[in-house]
Amino acid sequence: MDKEFQEQFTGIIKFTPPLYQQRYQFVKDLVEKHKPKKVADLGCADCTLLWMLKCCSCIEVLAGLDVCATVMKENMHRLSPLPGDYLQPAERSLTVTLHHGSVAHKDPCMLGFDLVTCIELIEHLEESELKKFPEVVFGFMAPSIVVITTPNAEFNPLLPGVILSRHPDHKFEWNRAQFESWALETARSYDYSVEFTGVGHPPTGREDVGFCTQIGVFVRKCPHTIESIQSEEPTEAVYQTVFQAVYPSLKDEKCLQNAVVNEVIFTAQIIKQSLLGHLMPEPEEYSDVLTETELEFQPSMDCVSEDLETLVVEYSMEPFVSGNVVYIPLTTIFSFPKVNQLCGTFEKFCELIAGKITLSSDGSAVMLSTEYENE
Ligand code: SAH
Repeated sequence: MDKEFQEQFTGIIKFTPPLYQQRYQFVKDLVEKHKPKKVADLGCADCTLLWMLKCCSCIEVLAGLDVCATVMKENMHRLSPLPGDYLQPAERSLTVTLHHGSVAHKDPCMLGFDLVTCIELIEHLEESELKKFPEVVFGFMAPSIVVITTPNAEFNPLLPGVILSRHPDHKFEWNRAQFESWALETARSYDYSVEFTGVGHPPTGREDVGFCTQIGVFVRKCPHTIESIQSEEPTEAVYQTVFQAVYPSLKDEKCLQNAVVNEVIFTAQIIKQSLLGHLMPEPEEYSDVLTETELEFQPSMDCVSEDLETLVVEYSMEPFVSGNVVYIPLTTIFSFPKVNQLCGTFEKFCELIAGKITLSSDGSAVMLSTEYENE
């Protein structure tokens, strides 16, 4: 809603990139710098910031809160994993949750966050909500870092069409002195330090008005002790969860197993194709390009008898063909970087593929039929 309004201004004042994007980029830069694992966006609206943040690989828990469920639901599907997330699961785990509720109320689901962002939120709060906000965010949630952005009223005369405020739902718009005084008092009360900055530079010659959006970055002075967390009164859950997505992650044993099995099958197929390509080029396809000597050199597909299979598998460090079976030693497959990286150790590799892939009788090689391309 705020975004639409400011889009109108961008045509005249020309913020490049648009102001809302500058605010989100500010948060993203902060995330890249401090690498928080758990981030909550209060007043998340259409979830655009959350959607941007889900790409930050340090984040494992992402939560959104808004008092308006409808606005959250409009675009929340963007927070679901994509097919690529299943095909190539990430190393980190990631859970994204959206809660319906107010920042004026405490809920235990909001505990344990490292970074809390309140982007263009406070100016939408009623006086009674704004009074409770510091205790909920700084007292109860008490994350290491809080970012609060709000319009700088001093910039408003430069925004054509803005008479009283930038948006009809804004309950107030503060000048820099008002925001700084509120922020300093809040920081002092809850033992935080605060630094002020902003986004949306004023035009040349009007530097006196400051940034279009003013930003306070609050950093908690003391680290949380176990005792301080435990001494919290138990709080009743009041928020409603409206969305949750758990991303596939290699930290999950089942997911790791799937990824390893897929990689082993893929690797084995490549080896098989290259082996069969060397052993038996299709005469009708290749005869015209192969020399006489190459055509003569066609190793026998039955070079190893069935009885000798076990013995040969045990001693062979190279893939080979026997009858209509291709044998690829596990050591060969494990030597491929991707398989190796996924599993770490050869023992883990064997453990992960056990029972999932057809192995030779002594368990030392993957068996693939020469006949089917898509085992
Ligand atoms: N952060 C977003 C949205 C800003 S508009 C952005 O940067 O674009 C403010 C949002 O705060 C709205 O979606 C509104 O529904 C929400 N909001 C207003 N009062 C709230 C409250 N008491 N608790 C939680 N969210 C609130």
